[in-house]
Amino acid sequence: MATQTSEITIIGGGVVGLSIAIGLLQAGRRVTILDGADGDFRASQGNFGLVWLQGKGADFAPYAEWTRDAVTAWPQFAAMLEEMSNLKLALSQSGGFEFFTDTTEFDQFRASLERQQAHLGNRFSHEIIGPDDLRRMYPGIGSGVVGATFCAADGHVNPLRLLRALRCAVTALGGNLVSDALITSISPSMSGGFDLSLQNGNHLGADRVILCAGLGTSQLAAQLGFETRVRPQRGELLITEKLADRLPFLSSTIRQVDEGGVQIGGTKADAGPDDSETLPIMAQLARHAVTVLPALADVRVVRAWGALRVVSPDGYPVYARSKQHPGAYLVTCHSGVTLASLHATVLAEWIDDTSRAPNLEAFDENRFALSGAA
Ligand SMILES: Cc1cc2nc3c(=O)[nH]c(=O)nc-3n(C[C@H](O)[C@H](O)[C@H](O)COP(=O)(O)OP(=O)(O)OC[C@H]3O[C@@H](n4cnc5c(N)ncnc54)[C@H](O)[C@@H]3O)c2cc1C
Repeated sequence: MATQTSEITIIGGGVVGLSIAIGLLQAGRRVTILDGADGDFRASQGNFGLVWLQGKGADFAPYAEWTRDAVTAWPQFAAMLEEMSNLKLALSQSGGFEFFTDTTEFDQFRASLERQQAHLGNRFSHEIIGPDDLRRMYPGIGSGVVGATFCAADGHVNPLRLLRALRCAVTALGGNLVSDALITSISPSMSGGFDLSLQNGNHLGADRVILCAGLGTSQLAAQLGFETRVRPQRGELLITEKLADRLPFLSSTIRQVDEGGVQIGGTKADAGPDDSETLPIMAQLARHAVTVLPALADVRVVRAWGALRVVSPDGYPVYARSKQHPGAYLVTCHSGVTLASLHATVLAEWIDDTSRAPNLEAFDENRFALSGAA
């Protein structure tokens, strides 16, 4: 028996759940966010902070479009969030590089940018930069770099401050954010809506439920009639001591955070539910950074960590409404930082099914049934 009922309950208080909450609160909904325990895997606390378009959706036009829209919406979203939270997100969107040390990988990525270009037309531009031109632009680039690509729309943000700002904004808008509220089961209620059971023995009711519990999504998805299952993919990162000098560029694997440290990342491993950092990958990351920018050899690494990405069967976002249980939604994605600007705005229209809702049919989970991938 549920003791309290909310209009919309969001399960998961990471970047995805909090962003969605903001849009719904601004649309006038009463929203409760139930977030799990401190020991949970939390991609939102371990990510790289890119707001990135380059390479996204090369083989899936709707994702290329959606990401393009997200990147475009970021400045306005950041301004809104900064005002509501009184925190600086350190958003910078002055373009980003991909650096290559292997010619085959360089060629493959160039080809994928051509496909992305074909999808986006004049809404996308990119540059291919040969090694000589690159070193003319940045004399400090290492001799092992065989070329780079550049997209002027790429950028980055301080990801931990983003998370804090989202939490502040949700509270400022009147959202009910509950921590240590792990949901163990959900069932449709006899009187309509849903009954939620918490690990601490409490029960809550909700008219509508949005499942965005990161790696906790799979376990609850089946109870709401969803097919989607997500898997962890480990990324490892290093951060250096703070540098007084600014790094002259942003890349998808090397970026300087606004506080001054240089963050190095970009690895991917299927390691199951294990987010520990490993010595061989730490060495690989350091080697990569020094190959791209030899001057970094003199800089001390002060911290390393691993974090688990939340990956759908085909790697693209899922926006699904439960057919079995109307009023239940599932949202999961890999690039939750980049997409936060849309999750906090137009996604509310999709959840409320208004005439202004974006067309997200391509992201429905029925694509897994068709491909047998879920
Ligand atoms: C190494 C790494 C680098 C990344 N780099 C970038 C990047 O540069 N740019 C970018 O856009 N994205 C990046 N990402 C991806 C981005 O971090 C994620 O897409 C985003 O954080 C996912 O947010 P989420 O809210 O879905 O999941 P999470 O942050 O994992 O949050 C899920 C929440 O759900 C809660 N939860 C789980 N189960 C339950 C339950 N049963 N009941 C209640 N609550 C529950 C958990 O406690 C948790 O707080 C990166 C990710 C990683 C790991």
